[in-house]
Amino acid sequence: MQHLVRKSNIILLLWVVVITGCGKQDNPTDSEPTQDPPALTPETPDLTHLPFGGNAPTNILIKNQGDAQPDFLSLWLCGIPADGAGADNAGDWTNPDGTWDYTQKPQVEGDGTWDHEFNITLDDNGNRILTGNNLPDHPTGIFPVQAGTAAWEYDKNPNIISEHLINLSLPAVPEVAPIPSCVGFGPAGFSLTGAAIYHGASTLGTDAAAHEMLDKFGGHTDGTERYHYHFPTQDLQDHIHPHESGHSALMGYMLDGFGIYGPYGEDGELLTSADLDECHGHTHPILWDGQMLTLYHYHWTYDFPYNIGCYRGTP
Ligand SMILES: [Zn+2]
Ligand SMILES: [Zn+2]
Repeated sequence: MQHLVRKSNIILLLWVVVITGCGKQDNPTDSEPTQDPPALTPETPDLTHLPFGGNAPTNILIKNQGDAQPDFLSLWLCGIPADGAGADNAGDWTNPDGTWDYTQKPQVEGDGTWDHEFNITLDDNGNRILTGNNLPDHPTGIFPVQAGTAAWEYDKNPNIISEHLINLSLPAVPEVAPIPSCVGFGPAGFSLTGAAIYHGASTLGTDAAAHEMLDKFGGHTDGTERYHYHFPTQDLQDHIHPHESGHSALMGYMLDGFGIYGPYGEDGELLTSADLDECHGHTHPILWDGQMLTLYHYHWTYDFPYNIGCYRGTP
C-alpha cells in the first residue's frame, strides 16, 4: 500500500511539475523572430560585500529577550539556545568596511549521496502534505567536516547527516495572519530538494551563512544531524530550477505554507532584503499550483536575513 501511495504521489508531483513548468521551454523561440524585446541577461549578484547579520541595521532580534516586534532587514527569533555551538571566526573573509565576502569563504568539499525521499501532494481538504526523510536529492559536502580541509580550519563541525521524518500538513493557499510570528530554531521550511531551510542565525546568535562552513548548495548539518540550508547558492538555485528571466521559480515552502522563491523579482530584477517587508516577503501575482494567484510569498536573497525575517502567516 505504502508503495502504491508513494508511486501515485510521485505521478501527481510529476504532473504538477509538468503543468507548472515553464511553457517557454516547450516552444523555444531562440531562432525565431519575436516582437518581444530580447531577454536581458539576469543581473548577477555582487557576493563580495554582504552585510553581517547581527550588526545594525541587519539585526538579530530575540523576542524572549525583549524584542517585541520584527523589523525591516532583520531576523526576529523567538529565543536562542543557552548551549549554542558553531563557528565564530569570519576574519579571513571580512572586508575593511565590515561587510563579508562570500567568494573568499571556504566551502565544505565532497559529494556525499543520499537515499532521498520527498513527496508533495494536495489533499481534498485544502492542505499541502509534505512527507519525506529530509535527505536532499543532490550530493552534499562530507560531514563531519574533514580534518585537513580548508573548511576544517574554521569550523570543526563534528556532526553527521541522518534521516528525519517529515510529515507536515500546510495550508495549500495560506492567509496572512493578523500579526507576524517569531522564528524558532530548527526547520523554518522545506526546500523542493527535500531538505530543511533554516533561518539566518546560528545557535551562537550570529549570521550562520557568514560564519559557518557550508557546502556548494549552501547547506550543512548540526547537532540534530539534520541537513539544512542557510544560503541560496547558484548551485542550489540551478539544481531546483535554472533561472532564465522574470520572477524566480519556487524553491520551497515555509512552515506557514507560503512559498519561498529565488532572488529575482517580478521584472527579473535582483532583489535584496531592502525590497521586501520585515518578514522578507511581498505580495504580487505568482505561479501557484499551476495558476497565477496574487499571494504573499518570501524571497531567498543573498543578503541577511536571506530567507525569513518572521512568519507572515501562521506557522
Ligand atoms: Zn545551520
Ligand atoms: Zn515576488
